[in-house]
Amino acid sequence: ANRVHDLLDRAARDRGDAVAVIDSCDRQMSWAQIAAASHEAADILTEAGVRPGDRVILVFENCASVPVFFFACSRLDASAVVVNARLSEAELTRITAHSDPSALVFATDASEPARTQAERLGARTATGMFGTVAVVSRTGAAPEAVFDAAEEQVAVMLYTSGTTGTPKAAMLTHRNLIAASQATAEVRGIAAEDVCFLALPLSHIFGLVTLMAVTRTQGRMRLEARFQVDRLYQALQEDVTFLPAVPQMHAHLFHYARANGKPRYTRGLLRFVSSGGAPLDPAWKREAEAFYGVALQNGYGLTEAAAGVCATRNSFGDPDISVGNPMGVCTFRLDMEAKGANPAEGIGEILVGGPQVMKGYFRDPEQTAQAFTQDGYFRTGDLGRYDAAGKMHIVGRSKELIIRSGFNVYPVEVEATLTDHPAVIVAGVVGRAVAGNEEVLAFVKVGAETEVSEAELKAFAAERLSPYKRPSRIIIARDLPAAPTGKILKAKLIETFAAQLE
Ligand code: ATP
Repeated sequence: ANRVHDLLDRAARDRGDAVAVIDSCDRQMSWAQIAAASHEAADILTEAGVRPGDRVILVFENCASVPVFFFACSRLDASAVVVNARLSEAELTRITAHSDPSALVFATDASEPARTQAERLGARTATGMFGTVAVVSRTGAAPEAVFDAAEEQVAVMLYTSGTTGTPKAAMLTHRNLIAASQATAEVRGIAAEDVCFLALPLSHIFGLVTLMAVTRTQGRMRLEARFQVDRLYQALQEDVTFLPAVPQMHAHLFHYARANGKPRYTRGLLRFVSSGGAPLDPAWKREAEAFYGVALQNGYGLTEAAAGVCATRNSFGDPDISVGNPMGVCTFRLDMEAKGANPAEGIGEILVGGPQVMKGYFRDPEQTAQAFTQDGYFRTGDLGRYDAAGKMHIVGRSKELIIRSGFNVYPVEVEATLTDHPAVIVAGVVGRAVAGNEEVLAFVKVGAETEVSEAELKAFAAERLSPYKRPSRIIIARDLPAAPTGKILKAKLIETFAAQLE
């Protein structure tokens, strides 16, 4: 396979009649139908003025039209820019200005926010095997170069989550995505009989590479427009065999089951659940495994390296919360001189190389140059160390590192301590400059029915953390600012709770 749609065409050939996608609008499509619809969609895009080398923004919440239009872009040698319809109007405007697309496609039949955005832009409706979408053409977009080697073409541009600042547009080639789909399928042993519950947005690399891995292995996906914990609970009683999720989704599930007196999972079909995209809390791992009764596999990945690069292959009940070993063909190095590194403890910045690593940030040579070493390794900004068994542990992110009275505070450790408290669902910890020092601030999400005070949480933290790691404030909230995956947007915490911090 040279391009992502080659995997689709193979699925259509080998298992054309098999159900590929069931979405949360109860739309069902086989592999052959997705392939045929993607030809139709490619015609719609061509009529809209899309040429090779162009970008096409796809605005949606997960539904069957997304893979259709994603593969259609591949057929045209255009790059899909996949974005979540729940972005604000201002964010969509910024992404449009930045990615300079020749068309925007809105999956209006499965998303109210996509409908609203499409109406605002006066999009025209198109209907076909793919359902109903709305299309806007844009004049003046400048195409990028088209490469003779098809696999070098940018298949997709994804904006990073924006956890630490403004999202960046990572350009991922067909080669990147195909390598990633193979690594994910192999490490998890995904097969044609598998049914995946996919509430991870396809606008995030974890969701998109899962789609690619399922296409490669010709299994089935239940595509969820958005994460709804009761739907996940229900789907698990039906046919789901594997569940990739960010850790927060697992936490929401077992909190939901507990709060509603629902029994743990006993259906017996689930092979594994995986966690990635954000730090996995040891308590969450224990509770999740107790709920599912199967191993929870942690994995480490990032947009710029086309999702998973490191993964565990643990058995049930293994207390290991490392991110494991390299998944496939990626190579790693630790930079012991980077910000936040601590050679005495073996902590360095993780550098990653190999066929999954992106081409660069779109039209941003400066940021791209900063992100790579001279020999082409990508600087992840994550701090890691190897344990005695050779497994990688993510210690924190260099950008998030808090330096308090000369000591390094890794937010992950403080977050894990707070989530050990039964009232806390998720926690986000950041630093704030104060009089020549940095203070530790914590923000915690608690359940709607839960009563807990800041003093109680502070006392809980004080029993478990050295003084320099203790938060000076713990803000209690019913919700924290989050990306569509559920990842906490740490860059927005202080601004969101400014009034309470005064
Ligand atoms: P931005 O770069 O805009 O701040 P982001 O880095 O959060 O956003 P993503 O690509 O969604 O964007 O996230 C990748 C990051 O998530 C990694 O660099 C790492 O910090 C974190 N991460 C991913 N998996 C894990 C894991 N298993 N354990 C700890 N951290 C993880």
